Amino acid sequence: LGPPGSIGRQTAQAAGRLGIPVLALAARRDVDRLEEQARKFRPKYISVMDSAAAKELRTRLSDTNIEIGEGEESLVAAATVEGADCVVTGISGSVGLRPTLAAIHQKRRIALANKETLVCAGDIVMRRARECGAEIVPVDSEHSAIFQCLMGCRERTEIKRLILTCSGGPFFGKKREELARITPADALAHPTWSMGNRITIDSATLMNKGFEVIEAVMLFGVTPEQVGVVVHRESIIHSMVEYTDNAVIAQMGAPDMRLCVQYALTYPERYDSPVAELDLVKLSRLTFAEPDGEAFPLLPLAYRAVKRGGVVPAVMNGADEAAVAMFLDGRISFTDISDIVSAVTENAPEVECPTLEDIEAADREARRMAAEMAAGRAGV
Ligand code: MG
Repeated sequence: LGPPGSIGRQTAQAAGRLGIPVLALAARRDVDRLEEQARKFRPKYISVMDSAAAKELRTRLSDTNIEIGEGEESLVAAATVEGADCVVTGISGSVGLRPTLAAIHQKRRIALANKETLVCAGDIVMRRARECGAEIVPVDSEHSAIFQCLMGCRERTEIKRLILTCSGGPFFGKKREELARITPADALAHPTWSMGNRITIDSATLMNKGFEVIEAVMLFGVTPEQVGVVVHRESIIHSMVEYTDNAVIAQMGAPDMRLCVQYALTYPERYDSPVAELDLVKLSRLTFAEPDGEAFPLLPLAYRAVKRGGVVPAVMNGADEAAVAMFLDGRISFTDISDIVSAVTENAPEVECPTLEDIEAADREARRMAAEMAAGRAGV
């Protein structure tokens, strides 16, 4: 799901290189990319969200027998295509939730790259995965690292702490006053990883790290207090697990998502990869620092959100997605993102054991509130 995106393109490369058949593709509207991948992989089914784009793709692929569906329902059809055993959820946004749940019901392995799945509906998704016996293998570098560091961990009680590393984003060391003047172009120049626009901005505000804390809590069944974050500018240690005996296991490597993508597909097996070897002598040293929760308040906000639970993380995510889009459109400033997301999140309603419908409603309301707050900040 999401083949035109950065995870999707890397998945296609890995599948091509390792000879893994691709049975379905699903994207919003990138007809060129879909046609290219369709001709390469000859999938059974393609889902296109946008109906005009679906029509165009049908014309272009009329010489094939590939079935092309359209709209949100077709995403579910792609995620449950017959014969597949793994679904890579590389689409961003809450639209990834329903197809992920549908694939879980079919016991497919989820190579999880969609944040919203665990941030917004972590309780529901993890419970269903346990009930259905579906494996969830994270693709995000930090969670993939922790997943690997947990190999050989027999009891969850042996885990003392998960330590997520954080590049610090392009504005590490800056104070709030300096952050207020940052433009979308400044924020899109991320130091280490090459990613989509929303996640790049989320990395710059540290909202992304906040989401990763929530995902770690959900995925590995630990408390928020058991998840630490350390700034590690070199992005060589992708994350660590500290055990009860104070042994710390770290997963290291060149910062290259292709490794995480490939491992999620081939786990528990490992194969050659195009990722560069790690040259420790050339690196010579690795550095670590405390994240600045005052300049980057969305990280501590995420801890409060996951502790409150219910729909609060979904509200935070919805408000953030809306605020980031408004920042990229030049409608609000960089620091308005954290102001708006914080205000909307602190006002989130308490809903015990929310259903998917409750979560979706809270998400919509959060976006509406974020837009309303931005409109009140005229002249920025
Ligand atoms: Mg990450």
